[in-house]
Amino acid sequence: MSFEQLGLTVELLKAVAEQGYITPTPVQQKAIPLILEGRDVLAGAQTGTGKTASFTLPLLQRLAENSDPHQKPRRVRALILVPTRELAAQVYESILTYGKHLPLHAEAVVGGSSIGVQTRQLRRGCDIVVATPGRLIDHLQQRNINLSTVEILVLDEADRMLDMGFMPDVQRIMSLIPKQRQSLLFSATVPDTIKALAASALNNPVAVEVARQNATADNVSELVYGINREYKRELLSYLIGSNNWRQVLVFVRTKHGADRLEKQLIEDGIRTAALHGDKTQGARNKALEYFKSGKVTVLVATDIAARGLDIDELPHVVNFDLPQVPEDYIHRIGRTGRAGSSGQALSLVCPEESWLLAEIEKLLKRQIPCVADTGYEPVSLKVMDAPKKRAPDKATGKKDYRHTKKNTTHGGKPAQSEKRKPHGEKRKVKK
Ligand code: AMP
Repeated sequence: MSFEQLGLTVELLKAVAEQGYITPTPVQQKAIPLILEGRDVLAGAQTGTGKTASFTLPLLQRLAENSDPHQKPRRVRALILVPTRELAAQVYESILTYGKHLPLHAEAVVGGSSIGVQTRQLRRGCDIVVATPGRLIDHLQQRNINLSTVEILVLDEADRMLDMGFMPDVQRIMSLIPKQRQSLLFSATVPDTIKALAASALNNPVAVEVARQNATADNVSELVYGINREYKRELLSYLIGSNNWRQVLVFVRTKHGADRLEKQLIEDGIRTAALHGDKTQGARNKALEYFKSGKVTVLVATDIAARGLDIDELPHVVNFDLPQVPEDYIHRIGRTGRAGSSGQALSLVCPEESWLLAEIEKLLKRQIPCVADTGYEPVSLKVMDAPKKRAPDKATGKKDYRHTKKNTTHGGKPAQSEKRKPHGEKRKVKK
């Protein structure tokens, strides 16, 4: 199928061709005609599937079809809500890219940037607003924006907005938008909580599912390295150095962990930057820019900061810590193997995390191959007992194991075989 067959106008086909896209991705093939028809859509599509273009292209077309060039100032006709600033920047960029031959104007409204500048831009008027919920609420309270003219609402990465606790803000924003509208909901996973949100936000939606729920992309090869925690950093430096990797996204659990690993990798001579929520927006943009341009080899990121990162053909993703929520594993490795390119996702798993690995494999319904010989002492990743589970989070419906007593193979204490070898016996890290 070609983009022409989807019913897009010449202005959009030209912009798509300028991007070098030849064939629409599966989510684009399914969602674009439905959105052009005016249907509400509930799409289960993870990042990397081409989902942004699948709603941006038809949204631009529908707005352009009945736009009034004499309307001054412009009214907000489409609102796209996203969970993070980085994703907002990417969606905004996509609108500029795909809409470059159309007379439509977009603004991005996100935290971490000057509210005064955004206020002036909003008051000048625009057709499309891409926003994170918190900052949009600030503007609504200050009456800088009026949502009563919105015709199309997009909730992008809705599962993450739920995870991040944005649902009350999203509900409040939705109550200010006319009920008579087109609504599109995109989510990497579609748990019951998302279905409930869809039932309240969408009108007779068509469900579009492009990858199996809880499935990872086929073109990503996954591996687990069983390794004691204290050797993880050494193994990571070794893998990067010996394989001459050029662009590696490394996930850690905490902001503090991100800073620490950044420092250690720099000490190992690897150009590294960290991306997390405590960094200023300027520092986050700089880290991302350096990573994209190849000035740094490694970007160490927390889940939230990395959400929605769109880096073309990112070849390597490393889980330095396994995620606490199994679904995040799918989000994380979705950064690689995008739009057909192949990628590699490695997880450095210590015995204390074996139960997390078991949860991930249960979700994936398959085992991730394990590298037997890491060059370090072999560790067992066998889970002896089920971890104590907390009740599913009421807001997200997800199981969350944070703050529970972690089960380890050996009741939390390293077994004899896992104890560090005498100094000198461990593998040397290649520089
Ligand atoms: P997304 O899932 O929206 O994050 O998109 C992932 C990546 O795929 C982005 O870098 C897009 O530029 C790229 N992309 C989107 N649609 C296509 C297409 N039809 N052909 C090739 N690349 C695409």
